[in-house]
Amino acid sequence: MLALLLLSGIAVSTAFEGGNIGKVEPVSPTHLRCAVQGQSDQDHRNRQANWYYFKLTGLRREPVTIDLVNLAGEYNYRAPAYSVTKDTRPVYSYDDLHWAHFDDSQVSWDDKEPHLTLRFTPNGDTLWIAHTPPYTNRSLAVLLTQFRGSPYLERQVAGRSVEGRPIPLLTITNPRVPIPKKRVIWLMFRQHAWETGSSWACDGAIRFLLSGDARARAIRDRVIFKIFPLADPDGVAGGGVRFNKNGFDLNRNWDAIDPRTTPEIAAEHKAILDWLDAGHRVDLFLSLHNTETGEYLEAPAAYRALAERLFGLLKETTTFNPTMPLRTAAETTTPGKPGRMDVAQGLFHDRRLAAMLMEQMVDFNAKLGRCPEVADRLQFGAGLARALAAAVTPE
Ligand SMILES: [Zn+2]
Repeated sequence: MLALLLLSGIAVSTAFEGGNIGKVEPVSPTHLRCAVQGQSDQDHRNRQANWYYFKLTGLRREPVTIDLVNLAGEYNYRAPAYSVTKDTRPVYSYDDLHWAHFDDSQVSWDDKEPHLTLRFTPNGDTLWIAHTPPYTNRSLAVLLTQFRGSPYLERQVAGRSVEGRPIPLLTITNPRVPIPKKRVIWLMFRQHAWETGSSWACDGAIRFLLSGDARARAIRDRVIFKIFPLADPDGVAGGGVRFNKNGFDLNRNWDAIDPRTTPEIAAEHKAILDWLDAGHRVDLFLSLHNTETGEYLEAPAAYRALAERLFGLLKETTTFNPTMPLRTAAETTTPGKPGRMDVAQGLFHDRRLAAMLMEQMVDFNAKLGRCPEVADRLQFGAGLARALAAAVTPE
């Protein structure tokens, strides 16, 4: 957490849930160099630098320049890897609620010392800037408050994070229809704290599934949705990027589960196995993620037909904009190295589940004709819920 009052009169603060920025240096009274903090894993490798969420106060209605610097990282041990690039369009808000992307004329990129520069003239004295529209533990709490008392929503706590935060597990279905008569879809969101776009999709899916829409009613009669909405609550609270508080990637390590280092994985894994061991089914498991430019679905070869059905439904009925054909999952992300199975690989390995992974881009999406906005994600979430239900309950 950081609260800096600079000589310029522009103050930079991250003293709120999800806030994060690295070192801030004034270049002039209206020009700040802001280092993106980034995060590395337990071995100080795989640095990723693409979460920033900070508040500027003391702005006047005159042009401001912000340089986002210190962007080089590493991905699956390959470096340099850049998450923030020339195509990144950060978002801004005047109320911390409604977000818009900076447009092309306000953003420029320098290849020499790779950094992204924002130039804009503010309309108010306070402005929030973030990589993508933030979604915090508090955002989920606000959503669930709206559905308090719904007979179709059950809330559980699957376990505790490193810092003791609850790991929420939601069940959405019509409880009057017996469990064995229904299919089961298990969803997971925010294994990586920066990927807020997936949370907005989760929010949209929950809103739809709990709504009075006739299609939602029919789905609740036929399907049980089990949902981990925030798989890394510490990272979400603290403005993390992709590792838990002990530095472990929660979408790796599913083949080396240790409740001391990754209590989140241990709790999530146990909840799924307990469900299966109680004699229940899981027809489809899906973990949702964001990348900057890639959008795809990945599934085990053994579930090719089911994955193709889902892929086709998503392509036809939602803004899913695949940048590659349906991908077949490998056994692990890094052959020969323990601790490198993602959740889908781990669940397939353990129980031969139809466990899939989806990535969605945050940069310009040609199918939408813009960078995905909050409204697009909410709408996608509703469409995703329908496509998933249709995929597991063919006519
Ligand atoms: Zn991810």
